[in-house]
Amino acid sequence: MRKPIMAGNWKMHKTVSEAKSLAEAIKQGAADVSEVEVVLCPPYTALAAVSDALAGTNIKAGAQNMCQAEEGAVTGEISPLMVKELAQYVILGHSERRQYFAESDEGVNNKAKVALKHGLIPIICVGENLEQNKAGETVEFVGGQVRGALNGLSVEQVAQLIIAYEPIWAIGTGLAAEPAAVNQIIKESIRSVVAKGFGDDAAQALRVQYGGSVKPANVADFMAQSEIDGALVGGASLKADSFLALVEAARLSR
Ligand code: PGA
Repeated sequence: MRKPIMAGNWKMHKTVSEAKSLAEAIKQGAADVSEVEVVLCPPYTALAAVSDALAGTNIKAGAQNMCQAEEGAVTGEISPLMVKELAQYVILGHSERRQYFAESDEGVNNKAKVALKHGLIPIICVGENLEQNKAGETVEFVGGQVRGALNGLSVEQVAQLIIAYEPIWAIGTGLAAEPAAVNQIIKESIRSVVAKGFGDDAAQALRVQYGGSVKPANVADFMAQSEIDGALVGGASLKADSFLALVEAARLSR
C-alpha cells in the first residue's frame, strides 16, 4: 500500500514570523497524524524556523529547490548539505523553476541524484503546458520528463522518491484538471515509463501526487483515484484551515 502524502508548497510566501505561525497552526491539527505523510515546504529563509516548530511531530519539512553542488562559489544558492540539516524533502523541477530559471530534465536528474545521495527525498515535478495539452502531447511529453528525471537512478533510489504530476495550466488558475483524466495520464506517462525502466514493482510502489488548484472542495475526488497518492498544493496550503482539510481528506480516503 502506498502511504498518502500531502505537501504544501508555500512558494515565495510567508516571512519567518508568518511561517512560524502557520506551521504552529498546522501542527495543532496534524502533529499526530500517522496515516498521511504531511510535508511543509516554506521558503529557505523560514526553513529553520519551520523545522524547529515541527520538531517532535510527524510533520516533515521540505525545501523548494536546491543546488546540485555540495559547496562552493555559487552565489545565491543553497546546497544539499544545508538543506539536509533542516528538511527531509526537496521539491525539484517545479514548473516555475523550469519556466523562470531554465531548469532542464538533465539538471533535475542531477539534483535528484545528489538529493538521494544525501538522504533527502526528492519530490520531482512534471507536467505539460496548455498548448501541449491541447495538441494531445501530454503523455509523450510527461513520459519524457519522467525518463529524463530518473535517468541512471537505481531501482532502490526510485523507490524513495515522489513524482508530482502538475499540469502547468492547472497551477494557480483555479482550473484543476479532471481527476479521472489525471489518473489515466499517471498510468500512461508515469507508471508505465517507470515500469519499463525499473520494473513493475517499482512502478506500483512509486508515490505520485497531483498538483494544480487542489482545494478542500475537490481533493476527495483526486484522492479517490487509484493512481493518485496525494497532492502538492500551493494556494490552499497557505492557510491552516484549508491545508488541514486536505490532510483530513487524504486520511479519510484510505
Ligand atoms: P496551486 O499550486 O495549488 O496554487 O495550483 C500547485 C503547485 O504549484 O505546486
